[in-house]
Amino acid sequence: MNPPLAGGCLCGAIRYTVSVPVTEARVCHCTHCQKASGAAGAVNAVIPSSTFAITQGRPRRYASKADSGRTLYRYFCGDCGSPIYSQRETAPETAVLRVGTLDLPEGLRITAHIWTKSARSWHHIDRKAKLFEGQP
Ligand SMILES: [Zn+2]
Ligand SMILES: [Zn+2]
Repeated sequence: MNPPLAGGCLCGAIRYTVSVPVTEARVCHCTHCQKASGAAGAVNAVIPSSTFAITQGRPRRYASKADSGRTLYRYFCGDCGSPIYSQRETAPETAVLRVGTLDLPEGLRITAHIWTKSARSWHHIDRKAKLFEGQP
């Protein structure tokens, strides 16, 4: 997918743009992403924060201690609850975008699965992707 890309939450209160191509995504199977998504985990693209801009609304922020031991800020829509992106407290230059919130989430390839040690047994893992038991 080529920039500029746009996306937002389910209710439309939060809108954003991304100014870099997003072609690779990774699946996070950590227990926090399972809780936060209500599903098997999260599908994310790691992008420079400088290329990501909120253009409408103001996401709420939840600070959680990740399984890795670090504090992770999870940003989501306070109205509809859609997770939008996350950032490590110690790495604000990087944004981890939930690619399902892109308006046209096409042209993406799953290149890695992380935190496979907590993956749910009922969720498919592509063994051809890079696999990490924990945080890469
Ligand atoms: Zn919303
Ligand atoms: Zn996770």
